[in-house]
Amino acid sequence: MTERDKHIMERIAELRRDIPGGVTLCAVSKFHPADDIRAAYEAGQLCFGESRVQELLAKEPVLPADIRWHFIGHLQTNKVRQLIGRTAMIESVDSERLLSLIDSESARAGVTTRVLMQVHVAREETKFGFYPEELLEYFRERRFESLTNTHICGVMGMASNTDDTARVRADFAAIAGVFREIAADASLGLRGFDQISMGMSGDWPIAVEEGATIVRIGSSIFGPRQY
Ligand SMILES: *Cc1c(COP(=O)(O)O)cnc(C)c1O
Repeated sequence: MTERDKHIMERIAELRRDIPGGVTLCAVSKFHPADDIRAAYEAGQLCFGESRVQELLAKEPVLPADIRWHFIGHLQTNKVRQLIGRTAMIESVDSERLLSLIDSESARAGVTTRVLMQVHVAREETKFGFYPEELLEYFRERRFESLTNTHICGVMGMASNTDDTARVRADFAAIAGVFREIAADASLGLRGFDQISMGMSGDWPIAVEEGATIVRIGSSIFGPRQY
């Protein structure tokens, strides 16, 4: 075992101690080699997040089969077919067109795909996702009823990339607020709509305070990424 492997295993152990029970740690392994993932796996980590389809598809066959892969990046429609059946969850559904395609490709493959709806609350222009009002409207109009092979498990989001912790907290509260508004509407008849994925290396404790059930942590486990 290398020093690097030991360091990764220690970081996983520390995070498992610090993150409250009931909150899932998704270890974001994008841009890091399979060996790093194996070290985290040896420390008991089963959920890993990847943001590029080709990278996920390259790593999946060479790593243990009980790993649960979460796709967390912007998913291009021309890559959906390759990804279906390979993930435990697609966290980053950022358009209705993408959702429809995930559903039809899942039906074609004979599987049910678990997804989260990405909510856009951060200040950055470049971030993908539904605006809160758009997502509320999607549910209010019961447009999810046309899905046959997709299970919407909750929402995912990111806070603004800023040192202003009040702003970060407000962003997480907004994401959780959208989730609660949908989840509280019993007339929708949603089942298993119970996940809020938010919080990264720099801000996950605030996300947990605001109600996160999944935190996505990369660099504080694996170190900086080499893009
Ligand atoms: C890269 C990434 C993360 C992890 O970020 P870190 O700051 O390295 O913890 C979390 N979520 C998404 C969507 C990402 O792309």
